[in-house]
Amino acid sequence: MRKFVPDDSDSNINIYSNWKPGLRVLVNGGAGFLGSHLSERLLQAGHEVICLDDFSTGRLTNIEHLMSNSRLTVMEHDVRHPYDLDVSIIFNFASPASPPDYQRDPVGTLLTNVIGALNVLELARRTGATVVQSSTSEVYGDPHINPQPESYFGNVNPIGPRACYDEGKRSAETLFFDYHRSFGVDIKVGRIFNTYGPRMRRDDGRVVSNFIVQALQNQDITIYGDGKQTRSFCYVDDLIEGFLRFAVKSPDCCGPINIGNPAEIPVRQLADIVIAMTNSKSRVVHLPAAVDDPQQRRPDISRARQELKWQPRVNLERGLEKTIRYFDALLSSEKVVEAV
Ligand code: NAD
Ligand code: UDP
Repeated sequence: MRKFVPDDSDSNINIYSNWKPGLRVLVNGGAGFLGSHLSERLLQAGHEVICLDDFSTGRLTNIEHLMSNSRLTVMEHDVRHPYDLDVSIIFNFASPASPPDYQRDPVGTLLTNVIGALNVLELARRTGATVVQSSTSEVYGDPHINPQPESYFGNVNPIGPRACYDEGKRSAETLFFDYHRSFGVDIKVGRIFNTYGPRMRRDDGRVVSNFIVQALQNQDITIYGDGKQTRSFCYVDDLIEGFLRFAVKSPDCCGPINIGNPAEIPVRQLADIVIAMTNSKSRVVHLPAAVDDPQQRRPDISRARQELKWQPRVNLERGLEKTIRYFDALLSSEKVVEAV
């Protein structure tokens, strides 16, 4: 029997051994940045993957290298409308994630998170599937305590421009736990902290993709505010590994569990690192700070360490190296296309 063993994991931890190949897994938001990496890992492990997406912020190019796999089905659908599928595991990753993306259509964002959660939980209730939710560090808002443990209730402005996302994700968590308590649905709520890597959209507006693309093109590096605000950046492979470990846990392990890298740095320092790593001639410019921008963010990952035996393995420099290589290749291929 094939076991689901990740590439670089400790070979004596057979963490996935209760997950036999051949499960039908639904990945909502499967054409997005994280969803495409997740779908790829699930296919590698021998599972059937249904990648459901409305392609609002995701792209077919993220999964086109997987299209020849007969175990992949791609379904264009908006999670705000009910759907019926026979699956045993569901990952709910469908939601815009970058601030410019989620603020472009705030009502749509809120409804994607709330109605999307309701529809996925109804599906899980009907099928008995386990449902894994991609929640976010934004449930902590602009936190008063650092690092943030899962027990912290957060500091969110409910009427600000980030609320459509923050409150959408918070309401989704409420629905998840109510469906668990009321109907016994097997839920796993993972709170994702800033994650980066190949297949982020070059123009999605998040800090890592912005800085790398700007640096590679010797354009100004745009810092919003003074750059003293901090984030803790997790490389995509680590994040996916954390979610897979969570998904196979028994039904009494519901979370919430923070999944992120606790190495915290100021945004200004990230700019300097990216400039140095790309040998860029870019200048740093300061633009107005984003409204309600969290000033500090760092996950307390004690729970993930204890319950999932997980911690990130890829440090910032190595993760950035891989991401820079990805964007460098992408920009070069765009230049070739322009020249033709
Ligand atoms: P992304 O924008 O690349 O992916 C989101 C995907 O969901 C896209 O493919 C998009 O087309 C799809 N989608 C959006 N609305 C939909 C709808 N109504 N119906 C169907 N599909 C829809 O973003 P990502 O970074 O891959 O984020 C994936 C999930 O992880 C999101 O739920 C996000 O909130 C969460 N998350 C991500 C981060 C991060 O740092 N990347 C941090 C916290 C939480
Ligand atoms: N940011 C920045 N310049 C950019 C993009 C983002 O200074 O070009 C800042 C942003 O204001 C925030 C941090 O970087 O303080 C992280 O922003 P991102 O959009 O990546 O994620 P989030 O705010 O959701 O953590």
